[in-house]
Amino acid sequence: MSFEPVLTRGIGQLDLNDIEVYEKQGGYQALRKALKMTPDEVTAEVTKSNLRGRGGAGFPTGRKWGFLPKDGRPRYLVCNADESEPGTANNRILLQWHPHQLIEGILISAYAIGAAKSFIYIRGEFYRGYRALVEALAQARAKGYVGERILGTDFSQEIVVHRGAGAYICGEESALLNSLEGKRGEPRVKPPFPAVVGLYGMPTIINNVETLSCVPHIIERGADWFLSIGPAGSPGPKIFTVSGLVRRPGNYELPMGVPLRELLFEHAGGMLPGRKFKAVQPGGGSTPLLVEQHLDTPMDFDSVRQAGSMLGTAGVMVYDDTVSMATVAAYLARFYANESCGQCTPCREGTRWMNVIVDRIEAGGGRPEDLDVLRSFGFSMMGTTICPFSDASQGFIQSALKYFPEDFTARMSVAAGREEVRTA
Ligand code: NAD
Repeated sequence: MSFEPVLTRGIGQLDLNDIEVYEKQGGYQALRKALKMTPDEVTAEVTKSNLRGRGGAGFPTGRKWGFLPKDGRPRYLVCNADESEPGTANNRILLQWHPHQLIEGILISAYAIGAAKSFIYIRGEFYRGYRALVEALAQARAKGYVGERILGTDFSQEIVVHRGAGAYICGEESALLNSLEGKRGEPRVKPPFPAVVGLYGMPTIINNVETLSCVPHIIERGADWFLSIGPAGSPGPKIFTVSGLVRRPGNYELPMGVPLRELLFEHAGGMLPGRKFKAVQPGGGSTPLLVEQHLDTPMDFDSVRQAGSMLGTAGVMVYDDTVSMATVAAYLARFYANESCGQCTPCREGTRWMNVIVDRIEAGGGRPEDLDVLRSFGFSMMGTTICPFSDASQGFIQSALKYFPEDFTARMSVAAGREEVRTA
C-alpha cells in the first residue's frame, strides 16, 4: 500500500528544524486558521476527527479536553514527551526532526482548551530532541508564534521545556505531574483525573507528542479528511516503530489499521534469511504477544485488543524462531524490577520476584513450581496497584507462558538434568 506520510513528511529530506523551511511547507498556517476560529470550534473539530491518544491508551482526545471543569481556575496543557516504552521511538523522531509541528500542535491545543501555560516534559535521555525543541521555540518566539499576543490576537502562550531524569514511571501522567512539581515521580490515585485535579492542583490536559502533532493537520485539512484515513473507530496516520528480527527495522508512518502482515512483510522487509516468524509484541514491551494466527490483525486500537493484546505505543517488537521467550522474559523482567517506583507492594515485590524466578529459569536453574508461581502473578499483580505499571509487567510473561510454555520448560529440564548429576 502506498501512503503519503503526514506526520513524517519531509523528515530526512528537508531541514524542518529551520522555521523558514517549516513555513514554506505550510507550517503555522493551521495556527493562523485556528486563531480565526473560536476555541470551541477548534475543540469540536478535534472531537469530530476521533483522534485517539497515541501515547498508548487510545483515549479520545476531544473527549479528554471536554472533561475540563468550567470553573474559571487556571488550566494547563502538558505534552508527554517521556517516551520510554521498550521498542518505541516514534515520538523521538518527531521531537528531534519535526519540533515545529509539535509546537504548532501545542499552541492550537492550548488555545482550544484555554491553557494558561504549556509544558513539554521530555525524557532526559532525549538530549537532541531537547536541543531541537529549545532552538525551535526560540525561532517561533522571534516570529511571534509564542509569547504575548500571538500573531496580534488576544491569545498568549508560554511553553516550558522540562527534562526528566531517566525514570520510566515518569511517563505515567500523574507521576509526570509530581516530577514536574519537583516531587518524587510516583503515580497519584485516579480519580481525580488530571483533567480535574492536575498540575499544581489545577485542571490539566496531558497529551502525547504524536497526538499533538496530528492537531495542526486536523485543523488545516478538516476532521473528515482525518476520518478518511484508516478505520472510523481508530482513524488517522500512525507511526509504527518496528524493531527486532526483521530485514528493515525502523519507523513507518502508515494508516491506522494496516494489517500486521503487511507492516512486517512488506514495509519492514520480512524475516531475516532462513528465519521464521514466531511472535510480536504489537505495542511495546508491556503488551501481550500476538502469534502467527494474528498476522492479519489490523493494527488499530480496537482490532489489536480483540486479538488479545494492545496497540499501545505501536512499538512492534518482532521475534523469530531462534528466540527463546525465556530469554526475552529475563530482559523484560529485569527492566520492570529496575523501573518499579516501589510505591505499591504487589508491584515492588512482584517485579522483583518475577526477575529472580525468570532469571533462574533462563540460567537453567528453574524449579518445578516456578511456572505456576509466575502464572499466579497474573492474578496478584493485576488490578491491585495505583497505576498500570504492575499490570503492564504481566503483559508479556503471561502471554509467553500461554503460547510458548515449552520455551520455559526446556530450560527447566536442563535444570532437572543437572540435579540428577549432582545427586548421583
Ligand atoms: P488510561 O486509560 O487510564 O487513561 C488514558 C487517558 O485518558 C489519561 O490521560 C487519563 O487521564 C484520561 N482519562 C481516562 N478516563 C478519564 C476520565 N473518566 N476522566 C478524565 N480523564 C480520563 O491510561 P494511562 O494509564 O494514562 O496510559 C496507559 C497506556 O500508556 C498503556 O496503554 C501503554 O501503552 C502506555 N504507555 C506508553 C509509554 C510510552 O513510552 N509512550 C510507556 C508506558 C506505557
